[in-house]
Parts: sequence; C-alpha cells; structure tokens
Amino acid sequence: MTNNVLTTASRILVEGPICDHCIGRMFAKLSTGLSNDQRGAAIKLALALEYDIKRSETSDDTQLKLLAPSSIYARKTLGMKDDDNKCWVCNGLFQHIDTWAKRVITALEGYEFDTFLIGTRPSGLLIENEEIVWATSGTRWAEPLKTEMNREVGKRVEARLKKKADLKNPHIVGLIDIAQEKVELDVRSLYIFGWYKKMIRGIPQTRWPCRECKGSGCEHCNFTGSMYPESVDELIRPEVIKMTGAKDTVFHGAGREDIDALMLGTGRPFIVEAVKPHKRRIDLTRLQHKINRYADGKIAVSGLTFACHSDVELIKQAKADKVYSLRVSFKEQISEEKLKSAIEILSQTPIIQQTPTRVAHRRADLKRIRNIHYIKFEQLSTDGISAVIELKCEGGLYVKELVSGDDGRTTPSLGASLGVEAKVTELDVIEIDGIFI
Ligand SMILES: [Zn+2]
Ligand SMILES: [Zn+2]
Repeated sequence: MTNNVLTTASRILVEGPICDHCIGRMFAKLSTGLSNDQRGAAIKLALALEYDIKRSETSDDTQLKLLAPSSIYARKTLGMKDDDNKCWVCNGLFQHIDTWAKRVITALEGYEFDTFLIGTRPSGLLIENEEIVWATSGTRWAEPLKTEMNREVGKRVEARLKKKADLKNPHIVGLIDIAQEKVELDVRSLYIFGWYKKMIRGIPQTRWPCRECKGSGCEHCNFTGSMYPESVDELIRPEVIKMTGAKDTVFHGAGREDIDALMLGTGRPFIVEAVKPHKRRIDLTRLQHKINRYADGKIAVSGLTFACHSDVELIKQAKADKVYSLRVSFKEQISEEKLKSAIEILSQTPIIQQTPTRVAHRRADLKRIRNIHYIKFEQLSTDGISAVIELKCEGGLYVKELVSGDDGRTTPSLGASLGVEAKVTELDVIEIDGIFI
C-alpha cells in the first residue's frame, strides 16, 4: 500500500510542483485525523527519503525523476523545469485561503446568522487541471478541490466569527467565485408562522396584480398595478420588512377564504417568508403588536413562532376541517320544513364536486368528494327568502357551489334539494381545525 501511495504521488509530482493541500487531497479518503496539507507534507517527506535512498543506489536519472520529491533543491539537481514554484493543480489557490476567508467575512458583515456554509465555484482552468490530475493519479481516494477549499475557508470563518458551519440548514451561504475573484451571498429566508383573522370583507389574501396591465399600472387599476388596494399579505409585510431588514416577503396561507369572506375564530394559519433578511433574532411579540397596530382592525395576527422552509409545504398541504357561517338567499319563499329536509339530505351524503366554473380557468378540472361533518340552519327570515346556515366540512369543499349546485357540477346541492335557486350572499370562516406546527 505504501508503495502504491508513493508511486501514485510521484506520478503527479513529475508533472510539476504541487502544494501540500493538492497532493494530500489525492489521498484524502485514506486516513483520518489529518488535514490534507498535513497528509501532503507527510507524503512529500516520505518521497524525499525514498529519493535519497535511490540516489545512493543508482545514477539513473529516469528512475530518480519518477521518485521526484517536491523540494525545489531536488527538482533543480534533476534539471526539472519549474517556471515558478506555484502549484500546477490549484494554481496557487491554497496559498490564499486566508485572503478568501477575509473576503467571506467582509461579505457577511451586516447579516445576522448562526449557521453558514461555504461553496466554491472553480474557474474553467482549475476544472481542467483537476481532470488532468485525476487522470494522472488514477486515485480512488481523492477529494475535489472545492471540498478542500470549502472546508479550509469554513474552518477559518468558524474560528473568526464563532459561528457554526452547517451543511443541511445554513442561514447563509458564502459562494467563492474563483474566476470573478469575489464572494456571492445566498441569504436563506426567515420563516415566521402565525394565525390571521380577517375582520373586514373585500380584501384578498395575497397581492393581486391588475389583470389588464399585469402590475405596471393602467386606467383599469387606477394606476396602482393591483386589483385591490390592500391584502392580508400587504398588511403584514411592512412591519416584517422593517424588523428583519428583508428585501421582500412571500405569503404562504393554509388555504384561502374568498375575498368577500371574513376569517374569524382562531384564524387561519400562515407563514410569512422574509426574503434576504439582515436580522433573524427578532422579538415576535413586538412584531405581532406592530402588525396589528398597522393593520388597524382590518386583520389581526396571533401566535407568531419561528418556522422553517419545510413547514411551508406542511401548511399548504394541510386539509383542515373548517366551520363556515353563510347567509343564503332563495329565489322563492321556502318553508322551515322544506329547508330542514334539504339540509338533512346534504348531511347524509358525500358531496361530489367537479371543479367550479369560477375557478376552472386556473385549476385542473377534477371530480372530488368531500364530507360535511354537520350542517344546521341558525335562522330563516320571516319572509322565507334568506337563511343563515352553519356547517363544518372537510377542507377543499367549495361552499358557494354546495349551495348553488353550479349547474349540476356539485351534487347534491342545497338548491337542487330544495328545487329552488339558492346562492350564498355572505360567507365567513369561523374556525379552522388541525394541528399545524
Ligand atoms: Zn495546490
Ligand atoms: Zn392595471
């Protein structure tokens, strides 16, 4: 094995001078407890000793050259031409680890984080050298240049800033671009989970760019670029940006209510994602207070806690049960008895729904089955043409269509069961059940 390592090492060294990091990483997977440069120095030392033995035994230059050690002295006596003493593999990159570590530290200034990760984008020249050295050495134990660079710069940044490198979930990634000689930052988002209530009608959950001008501003949208002047998202956003120094926010809701529906009770779960935040250790109680003051009674948030990237999928997929209160109007007068028996039908059968006409342009046309857990009428108007109904159903049930029938696309429906045209005039979400975070 020793012979094997030295033969391989000497084959690489014949090509030109090489630094301890580069020769060491060719055998990175062989021993533990040593850094690559320590390993490289040991290999060079072993080769120098071998060289001395061989020199006392033979004067055959070809044989000696094959054992070429790294010392400049030995290379010169053998007449090997090195233009300078720069490593031919990394082009001297590993002499500048400290410089790169300083560049990373400078780039990180002004960002709050606990964990980081270093990445390296090698130049085309280095990629080519890397391919040559791997072909020459044929080693199965080698480690790529960028792995060594990431680790060595990472060690220095860890020591200087007293922060931890984290491969899986870094707050921030420093990307070393060797060709451009600069460090790019990838600042990971900060996620905040909470619950929102919506106390007024007519505001959508998220920003809604104008349909006519797609956000650039036109007469249709009164040059605002938006279909609606505000949204739940935009009422939460300004204070999040102020406290985190983020560039923007992205709003993720656990489903959404209609624009004209209230969201009451405990509220609806959401995650607000602060994009490229400068601050992460913010006081969430204070943030909650500030959002609620800014929203001025239109919406209110509660239960803010820190979340992570994977929680976004979790709340988006959550199909929580919901309790709705709805006001329904009928085209003809109906009796309490008739309403009771129609409601009875709805509570006893699963509801089959084809994607509603009103959302068909943006959703796949599917058939789905949803259950109603309970449905009851709270009150029927004295003239018999409107009623207030409460129902609890599985998430994903389209309530407006449950009432109207959507031209037979939803069955059974309240309208069809009554034999009278019916439609929802007001819709509020009273409660959302489910475990979120
Ligand atoms: Zn090197
Ligand atoms: Zn417009």
